[in-house]
Amino acid sequence: MNEETWDHVQQRLLGAVGQNNFKTWIEPLELQAMDSGIAVFTVPTNFMGNYVGQNFSDLILHEFNLAGEQVQRLAFKVAVKAPASALGDAPAPLFEVMQDDAPVATAAPVTSAASSAPAAGKEPLETLQAAPLDPRFTFDSFVVGKPNELAHAAARRVAEGGPVTFNPLVLYGGVGLGKTHLMHAIAWELTQSNPDLNVLYLSAEQFMYRFVQALRERKMMDFKHLFRSVDVLMVDDVQFIAGKDSTQEEFFHTFNALVDQNKQIIISADRAPGEIKELEERVKSRLQCGLVVDLHPTDYELRLGILQTKVQHQRQTYPDLQIADGVLEFLAHRISTNVRVLEGALTRLFAFASLVGREIDMELTQDCLADVLRASERKITVEEIQRKVSEYYNIRMSDIIGPKRLRSYARPRQVAMYLCKQLTSRSLPEIGRRFGGRDHTTVMHGVKRIEELKSVDGQIAEDVEMLRRALEA
Ligand code: ADP
Ligand code: MG
Repeated sequence: MNEETWDHVQQRLLGAVGQNNFKTWIEPLELQAMDSGIAVFTVPTNFMGNYVGQNFSDLILHEFNLAGEQVQRLAFKVAVKAPASALGDAPAPLFEVMQDDAPVATAAPVTSAASSAPAAGKEPLETLQAAPLDPRFTFDSFVVGKPNELAHAAARRVAEGGPVTFNPLVLYGGVGLGKTHLMHAIAWELTQSNPDLNVLYLSAEQFMYRFVQALRERKMMDFKHLFRSVDVLMVDDVQFIAGKDSTQEEFFHTFNALVDQNKQIIISADRAPGEIKELEERVKSRLQCGLVVDLHPTDYELRLGILQTKVQHQRQTYPDLQIADGVLEFLAHRISTNVRVLEGALTRLFAFASLVGREIDMELTQDCLADVLRASERKITVEEIQRKVSEYYNIRMSDIIGPKRLRSYARPRQVAMYLCKQLTSRSLPEIGRRFGGRDHTTVMHGVKRIEELKSVDGQIAEDVEMLRRALEA
């Protein structure tokens, strides 16, 4: 095997896993040797070898074979004795990675899947690999607020183990709101209190890969046996299998078999099961049979709480960095609901501040995060405001826009105009046009009226505040 083949395989992998994954996981791999069907890679850290072994080995093997290279397995060696990273202190990976039990030909220290002993007494199985759990995703590090308290409580309950009360537990919500975090936290908790428990966590995508692989290698019996022998099954991002008919079917059967055995199932999705298009009805209704809880978009308070917690973490790395008053509040206010973005911003801020040796103040924040801040400047539209306001006051949108002058329409209309002035960059004449062609003086009057009322009428002040929050969330 020559360099070129590996280059070619890398190119294919880039296409398959995307730029980010590629940079993080594939690029650092160095192909060291090809030895009786085993591709040996050197990797910078143990963690990395495990991660790649568990998440990308099928794909890499597949690509090798497509490229005409007969590779049966991958092995990973740590290149140099790296100092223990932050991750090195983490609890050991929870899951045994099962590979076939052919002797491992490579010399020590092999950290990949290939190094794990096959589970004794079981069939040789190479298909089932759990995704690794992120050691940072525990209940301790999860900040609870109004938007996620229900999901958190449900996750806690399931993590206690004991008799299965709701099955499945379905956690759903938008990107970066903590679904994966909660699932990992459950898995950590369950296995900590009961190490013998066979907990399997994987993404729906991985479920599909395993399934396809089992089909291809005619190992469906193994596949079924494995999935039916877990005690707790967790499938993340189940929306992924929508529209993939045979995978859905297999998922459905696995699901039923486990429910029949009274085994706990935990599922996440990016939206409510009923709203996942191309998800079979029977799968939907199965999911809806359990406890379905959603993670709402974060609100200001939760974002601030998360930032404060994460600052504590950053302090461990940068004990000397000062952070000026108001910076966290500013970030909580300005950065979108996605916690991942929020975290990324904070990490960058600390790294940047330590690099230039300055305090984290507003100026530095604006400089360092200009792009993030720009991207998260949510463009609230006039329509959105009209819709939210009419929902809030329980009237029709056409009544807000239309000509009726009844007080019960006029006041909400003025509130909507006020919010348009505050939250959009539209001019008064533009706003007027969108409110059924009203004159800009009407809009001006409405805005003024609400400004006055806000200071004397607590109800109006509260209405406006609630609406503003809902719109900015
Ligand atoms: P999802 O799976 O819903 O897309 P994740 O669970 O991957 O989101 O969360 C994205 C990031 O935000 C993770 O780093 C996670 O630790 C963090 N995060 C989300 N919600 C919280 C929370 N309530 N407290 C602390 N960290 C959180
Ligand atoms: Mg996730």
